[in-house]
Amino acid sequence: MSITLNPNREKSLLRRHPWIFASAIRHVDETHVSGSTVDLLSSEGQFLARASYSPNSQIRARVWTFNDEPVDKEFFRKRIRAAIEVRQQLKVDSHSNAYRLLHAESDGIPGLIVDRYENVLVLQSLTAGSEFWKETIADLLVEETGVTTIYERSDADVRELEGLQPITGILRGTLSSFIFPITEYNLKFNVDIAHGHKTGFYLDQRENRHGVGELSKDRDVLNCFCYTGGFSIHALASGAKSVLSVDSSADALALLEENIALNHLPADRHTSLEGDVFQLLRKFRDANRSFDLIVLDPPKFAPTAAHAEKASRAYKDINLLAFKLLRHGGLLFTYSCSGGIDAALFQKIVASAALDAGVDATIIEHLSQGSDHPVSLHFPEGMYLKGLVCVKG
Ligand code: SAH
Repeated sequence: MSITLNPNREKSLLRRHPWIFASAIRHVDETHVSGSTVDLLSSEGQFLARASYSPNSQIRARVWTFNDEPVDKEFFRKRIRAAIEVRQQLKVDSHSNAYRLLHAESDGIPGLIVDRYENVLVLQSLTAGSEFWKETIADLLVEETGVTTIYERSDADVRELEGLQPITGILRGTLSSFIFPITEYNLKFNVDIAHGHKTGFYLDQRENRHGVGELSKDRDVLNCFCYTGGFSIHALASGAKSVLSVDSSADALALLEENIALNHLPADRHTSLEGDVFQLLRKFRDANRSFDLIVLDPPKFAPTAAHAEKASRAYKDINLLAFKLLRHGGLLFTYSCSGGIDAALFQKIVASAALDAGVDATIIEHLSQGSDHPVSLHFPEGMYLKGLVCVKG
């Protein structure tokens, strides 16, 4: 089974980038089942890679291997073992029992995300290829990690592009509750793996939440897009004077309140506010409110570069308002998880927000996703989370 590429379209594969777009393909030798394994051949018939076939997606094939080797259960076992070994070296489990075990393309298994929440794995299959091998991979995860419960959260919108329906539910083992506490830097968080965002928690921000905590003491903190309170809990635990948490999701705020109680934190220093950050920041500005530390961790405004222009305006808007609300010497922790906006563009947007707000600001730190979300050098798209810490002059 093979796919022959158009002349000169093998270049990205020679650079070991794992995606083949429909436009690069000259010929598909037969009708392949969605997700089945195919050889990718150059226009001259030379073997380039072995990949999964995705007939409905613009990304028509995703590479499993650039070697002429079988893609079978043992192949995936090697990949899973390698991913586990990387996490063991990182020692993420020394300060959290929740971390990303498999980060899709960057761990050599395109389309597959597996997050570990102590004794439960949450699996997200996003592509035809990962779907094809899902049962085998589930068996391997149990064999290689010793974790017997796997919950599936294959309900991300991108599955539609692959012609896949959403699937959620228990894939292996049993669960007595969908909500259970995990630990991050000695703080507890109730995570709802069935209804929460992504696989339940934004694991990628773990180190950045800790960083905010370290600088929150005696400060008035505003946490925008707070979800279940990650940054707020760290700030309260570190002695923030006050924390105001804003999110549009009532369910997320309810979990936040639980998380405050779970950690025995001073509830009188905290306020939850349900609403739209864009509107509330304007209200705060009009009411002359001010803060010492502001966190902006919005959802993905630009999933791809096609959304970059509109998203840039949204990022600029909230950053501009945040600069205005900050006291002199105050800190802005601002993030973008948009694949369509790279680090350089994000910095430009924040700079232009400061300029229009009429403030001087200095970057004191560049931030990214935690190291349990590694980035393959051949797949720069794997680096999606950008963050800046700015001091207002
Ligand atoms: N900082 C969080 C993750 C934030 S995810 C953590 O560390 O866990 C983004 C959050 O933004 C989600 O909870 C979503 O409900 C919220 N959200 C999306 N659009 C919003 C809006 N316009 N106003 C307020 N909240 C919004």
